[in-house]
Amino acid sequence: MSEPILVNVTEEIVRGLVSFLLRGPEYQTFCKCQICEFQTVAYALNALPSKYVTSKEERDEAFKAMNTPENIELINREIIRALHVVNKHPRH
Ligand SMILES: [Zn+2]
Repeated sequence: MSEPILVNVTEEIVRGLVSFLLRGPEYQTFCKCQICEFQTVAYALNALPSKYVTSKEERDEAFKAMNTPENIELINREIIRALHVVNKHPRH
């Protein structure tokens, strides 16, 4: 058995996608500070079901199950919504 962990796999995926999208050409004009990035992640995560796991094996299994084109598209849709909300109403 590996070390116990407690992670939300949805969070891991959303953090990765937000970071990737923010650095892409479509969002060049969007603020990339940590406040805005975290706010985008939080906003998207509040709209998506969480997926908590407690071992590396479970994490890998859940990640594989969630990493389908349909699911990533669904998650991306929430992230894009979040990006626009944060861009329109930045906390700074
Ligand atoms: Zn900002």
